[in-house]
Amino acid sequence: MSEFLAPYAVSEANSRGRQWPDGEALHRSPFQRDRDRIVHSTAFRRLEYKTQVFVNHEGDLFRTRLTHSLEVAQIARGIARALQLNEDLVEAISLAHDLGHTPFGHAGQDALNRCMRDHGGFEHNLQSLRTVDLLEERYAAFRGLNLCFETREGIVKHCSPDNARELGELGERFLNRTQPSLEAQICNLADEIAYNNHDVDDGLRAGLITLAQLEELELFAHHVAEVRRAYPTLESRRLIHETIRRMINALVCDLIETTQGRIAEASPIDLREVRLGERLVAFSASMHGAQQQMKTFLRKQLYQHYQVLRMTSKAQRVVNDLFSAFVSNPRLLPPQYLAFEDEEQTRRIADYIAGMTDRYAIREHQRLFEIGES
Ligand code: MG
Repeated sequence: MSEFLAPYAVSEANSRGRQWPDGEALHRSPFQRDRDRIVHSTAFRRLEYKTQVFVNHEGDLFRTRLTHSLEVAQIARGIARALQLNEDLVEAISLAHDLGHTPFGHAGQDALNRCMRDHGGFEHNLQSLRTVDLLEERYAAFRGLNLCFETREGIVKHCSPDNARELGELGERFLNRTQPSLEAQICNLADEIAYNNHDVDDGLRAGLITLAQLEELELFAHHVAEVRRAYPTLESRRLIHETIRRMINALVCDLIETTQGRIAEASPIDLREVRLGERLVAFSASMHGAQQQMKTFLRKQLYQHYQVLRMTSKAQRVVNDLFSAFVSNPRLLPPQYLAFEDEEQTRRIADYIAGMTDRYAIREHQRLFEIGES
């Protein structure tokens, strides 16, 4: 595989490797193994029942964290291949990037973060890392999945200086302001491309945003007009999907071409120079603007929509109630969630809650608070 890679790509040869000695696979690269370990993990299967924006039981067609992660992986792989970067690594990072998410999307994370305010807070990036480093129980020789440094680096997208200091080697780049690999940079933006576009799709399907509103946005307006010119009588679902696929394609192509230009200009000779230089994976200025406009629109019109907020407030109540019940009496926890030797009990409570799927959290809430449930 490495003969197809650019000299500044992450490869088996320049990888910083795994924490524990772990042999080598006969027919798979270390990053293929990482991807496989992630796909076989418990946390990965739970993504199926975790909310992206719409809670799982609101409808079978909405994205979940699982389908979101698959879309991110698909987009990121296409970009990586075009740029001769490590496709297996971007796939592994993409599939793992949301493993630490709580139930109920951002509402759940915000609620858990508030509950954990006096105990070091809760941050889904760091929880994803904790999941692959510590919480998965699948191997005899070590805790966690023992992933390669570069996969773990890609999972931690952002991080406060305080948290960075606790991460050791992995946190260094947040303190000395160097860059992660180009593969990690790709996953970051592939995530944005995926959620902006699928949230438009899901938002329209749910009837919370309208075509007329979207037509005020530069990127959507441009592509929907093109589709209408080519297919004047197209009915609305196909019109929407045809527009969205064109938006995704435009974003991906812009990202590839802009990044090619930036790489050519910076001409890094190896991975070390990628880390020491400017951030190279980027949209053009105009596409960045259009993408930001879409993000702002979604934040205001979809994520703050009263029907989404109602769900959000219920979700927060469930998380708050669970947290307080377990803090006031840790013996209500399943025994495997009693504190690890060196940690506060609250961190294990956060692990338990963060690991829950939407429906498990709702059931657990009923079991704890409704007389007659057990
Ligand atoms: Mg994501």
